[in-house]
Amino acid sequence: MPVDATYEFIAYRPEDEERPIIELGDVRLWDDVTGPFTFLNIYNDQVLIEPHGPDPVLFGVRGDSPYHVLAMGNYLASKYNAIGWIIYMTNQGTDEHRSRMGEFIPYRNADSISTITDVAFDEQGHALITLSGKRRAIAYRHLGISRELTGCIGCLVQVWGGVKQDGDFSLYMEGLRVLHDRYVEVRNPRCPICGGPMESVGRSGLLRCKRCGFQGKLPKILIPRNRWFLASPKASEYRHLMKPVTRIGLEGLALYMPKPFLWVY
Ligand SMILES: [Zn+2]
Repeated sequence: MPVDATYEFIAYRPEDEERPIIELGDVRLWDDVTGPFTFLNIYNDQVLIEPHGPDPVLFGVRGDSPYHVLAMGNYLASKYNAIGWIIYMTNQGTDEHRSRMGEFIPYRNADSISTITDVAFDEQGHALITLSGKRRAIAYRHLGISRELTGCIGCLVQVWGGVKQDGDFSLYMEGLRVLHDRYVEVRNPRCPICGGPMESVGRSGLLRCKRCGFQGKLPKILIPRNRWFLASPKASEYRHLMKPVTRIGLEGLALYMPKPFLWVY
């Protein structure tokens, strides 16, 4: 038995006609009214429900509720001249491929808790990450994860993705969660006499007020950044099984929804 599932409304097009362009406005409207029970419909101004190949699929609407994908799909199917449609129950967007294994085995998925010991960027902007335990990972620029990684050195993270066959940067990162942010900012306190800004005096450990000249040994102020975050790919970069962030908390819902009619497969 699956523990999670989603629905997809798939509409088919006449094969002897050219693929119509589905208007952003139509998709945005339905995305607004059916979210979060449908997902990955649009990303900024990009329509994501339309395939680009020569296949007979006109569009696919994915979601956790068969009623929501039906409402949205049915409208679009009529408007864009579909010849038929069907709703499938699928494992799309469920993270079914995610592994709990920490071991890096080629072609398998891995999920690992490590400390980031180094982050470098290559000339294409891909982030090359060194993890504790001599493991390495790469976060490709187009996924939109890599820019989150600056300032993460020393942080404890959970990373997951696919393990490549060889090469130094063996984990292809699909997502990242910061479990502990080690970054702490150290600041000088304000002057206890006048409230002015203070600066260090040489190496003595003394601080001197820039405004009134007061000098003293005062404790520094430590400001932890406390940046815990989940970094996921941009919506346009999601692959088949990757779970969109908007589905978090909806897992398993599809299995408990009564199916409307016999047309759900
Ligand atoms: Zn002062």
